Amino acid sequence: MVLERVKAKAIRWLEDNRGLVIVLFCLPASFLFDLFIQLRIYLDRKFSTVTSHKQRVQKIQDQVTEWSKLPKSEKKPLCTARPNWLSLSTTFFDKKKCHQVPIDLHDVLSLDEKNLTVTVEPNVTVREICKYLIPKGYTLAVTLEIGDATLGGLAFGVGMTTYSHKVGLYQEAIVSYEVVTADGNMITVTDSNEHSDLFYCLPWSHGTLGFLVGLTLRIVKVKPYVHMQYIPCHSQDEYCQKIMELSGATNKDTKVADYLEVTIYDKNEAVIMVGNFADVDSRSKPKINDVCWFYKPWFYKHVETFLRKGGEEYIPLESYLLRHNRAIFWVLESMIPFGNHPVFRAFLGWLCPPKPAFLKFTTTQAVREMTFAKQVFQDIVMPLDTLKEQVDTAVKLFDTYPLLVYPCRIYDHKGGAPQGQLRAPPKSRLVPGTNYSMFNDLGVYGTPGPVERREAYNPTYAMRAMEKFTRDVGGYSFLYADIFMSEEEFNEMFDMTLYNQVRAKYYCDGAFPRLYDKVKPEIDVIAIGETYAVKKDE
Ligand SMILES: Cc1cc2nc3c(=O)[nH]c(=O)nc-3n(C[C@H](O)[C@H](O)[C@H](O)COP(=O)(O)OP(=O)(O)OC[C@H]3O[C@@H](n4cnc5c(N)ncnc54)[C@H](O)[C@@H]3O)c2cc1C
Repeated sequence: MVLERVKAKAIRWLEDNRGLVIVLFCLPASFLFDLFIQLRIYLDRKFSTVTSHKQRVQKIQDQVTEWSKLPKSEKKPLCTARPNWLSLSTTFFDKKKCHQVPIDLHDVLSLDEKNLTVTVEPNVTVREICKYLIPKGYTLAVTLEIGDATLGGLAFGVGMTTYSHKVGLYQEAIVSYEVVTADGNMITVTDSNEHSDLFYCLPWSHGTLGFLVGLTLRIVKVKPYVHMQYIPCHSQDEYCQKIMELSGATNKDTKVADYLEVTIYDKNEAVIMVGNFADVDSRSKPKINDVCWFYKPWFYKHVETFLRKGGEEYIPLESYLLRHNRAIFWVLESMIPFGNHPVFRAFLGWLCPPKPAFLKFTTTQAVREMTFAKQVFQDIVMPLDTLKEQVDTAVKLFDTYPLLVYPCRIYDHKGGAPQGQLRAPPKSRLVPGTNYSMFNDLGVYGTPGPVERREAYNPTYAMRAMEKFTRDVGGYSFLYADIFMSEEEFNEMFDMTLYNQVRAKYYCDGAFPRLYDKVKPEIDVIAIGETYAVKKDE
């Protein structure tokens, strides 16, 4: 009894002082951990580059062929040997139940400046491709603001950026995939060859249809800076309407900006960011702001200052692309509440963010439970014309700000026929005269308001209600985050028609886990969420 009380007090102290614990222990440990990881990756690469891409892929094919010769009773489903803690996903898929195949593929293979494509191996990270492409005058058409995300992970999961209102999801910028299938063959998959059915199912497949060993991605020509215009909005109708217009959702001929996003700070307070590639002349030099320097305010805090009065500035392109990296969007605030204080930034800002890999590596059962019971990490793709209802629902269920909004095209590629896990948008929602509809990513990250205020909160209810809303409006939950859906509800949200055909055609059954089994949380989030539910009078 006494022990229980001491334990409860200790947990409460740790929760109340989590910032201190993270600063004193996690940040230095994460720094050392990262040095070790970088050294390991450096050595891995040094050894892997003495072989050619073809040899490295052959090694993976040989391992799959060996696996296929195992007796049925010994054949566990296949998965990559990449440790869970290296992945940005919040879930911990139990890889011990699988036959793990190392995918040691970390190289940029070629740049085709004529056709504007780059060919890479899947473990190249966003930070690495920025360093490679930007000095040459290019960037990926679609990327992600987290430097540690891998180009392969984004291809088999999902990727979306502030350029997506022009081109769609990351998958729309993929020209071809190189995939090792369950029979050990290596095939090149494009939207027009004999594997075009597979082409449409690989995004959102999470490694359940084959191993990704190469990727050709579309790139775009860039200028060294992004000219940013910050537009403050003081009513929900204002930002909902403006973003429809600025994204081209109301008129296909609208001249849209290169980059577009909204950060919502309160139901009626938001800043719309309009960015365009730019050169900077001597007159504009004083307006340059490199937002990624460790001593600068976190990007979303900086943007918040434009609520009072709009403004403009020039951000170096690489800093723009990684602008949310330092505060992991705004997740860091719930870990280090004083992390944006100027004194903290000046002395310890360079240690931020704690590496996602370190945070995952040191996750205990209790911390894992807190990631969905006392926090929320959700990215959800929904039709942009429902933005008002999206915000109202998210605020009612989670009451946490800011909210992230990236407009994004979702295409109808096959005239309404099955086209992978994402359905063709309904005809009534297409932007007139086009084959796409304007959706948006709604990012909800942080500590729910009721948890912060120690009020009634039931994570299971909140998450399931958000998922129901998502299904009702024809949207999709990103699968890197915890899902609370049953398989039936999952199959209602995602179209599994073509996926099931492709699994049969490429002998995936018995070789790779099914999608729902791969992405569903490794623990019973529904039951655990219920046990964490806080009632009003507690
Ligand atoms: C706070 C936060 C905010 C985020 N916001 C956004 C956002 O705004 N927009 C966005 O697009 N995403 C966002 N994400 C999600 C992120 O894009 C995903 O986690 C993405 O999958 C990239 O992560 P990764 O490289 O670690 O991939 P992983 O998690 O390693 O891979 C994704 C899936 O693909 C499989 N896989 C990877 N490589 C291979 C391979 N070679 N062969 C077979 N299978 C493979 C993995 O097993 C896994 O199932 C956010 C994530 C966080 C934590």
